[in-house]
Amino acid sequence: MIYKTVSTSSEDTQRLGQRLGQLLAAPALLELKADLGAGKTTFVRGLAQGLGSKDTVSSPTFTLSKIYKAKNLQIHHFDFYRLNDAGIVADQLAESLEDPNVITVVEWSDIVQNILPEERLSIEFKATANDAQEREVTIRYSEAKANTIRRLETDWQELRP
Ligand code: ADP
Ligand code: MG
Repeated sequence: MIYKTVSTSSEDTQRLGQRLGQLLAAPALLELKADLGAGKTTFVRGLAQGLGSKDTVSSPTFTLSKIYKAKNLQIHHFDFYRLNDAGIVADQLAESLEDPNVITVVEWSDIVQNILPEERLSIEFKATANDAQEREVTIRYSEAKANTIRRLETDWQELRP
């Protein structure tokens, strides 16, 4: 199933992430797809806030993975940008995916597709030709997350200015 919406600013993207964070329970897998600078990390910043984390979210491009503590769970944030071989980080990712108290977020997931389960939320951000700040947001989800995303859709319609 697919839910498409639009973000018109980085605050918008952060708020969308925050609202999803408020609705999401562990375990869960989020795959973020977008070009550089489209807003993946901005979205995760909101997501972490929504999950009640006070930790600082930044792009794990150099560290490959970061952990944020939230209320009763952890967010494990992976970024495989420009990596040809996921190496030991793939093992870390596999462990995160097995942990029932972890929400796993993966940026640039191409090289780890073989270990990612089908069951995931896939979120895509695309810049548009209309406006430098505009992003098309496409959320792909399965039946297991249908209630969560329908809720997000309703809440988001109310939240948007
Ligand atoms: P990524 O992780 O995809 O590389 P970042 O979230 O790190 O992207 O950066 C996104 C950049 O784009 C930020 O500088 C942000 O201010 C800017 N931006 C402009 N419009 C938007 C938008 N609608 N959503 C997210 N970021 C936006
Ligand atoms: Mg990033």
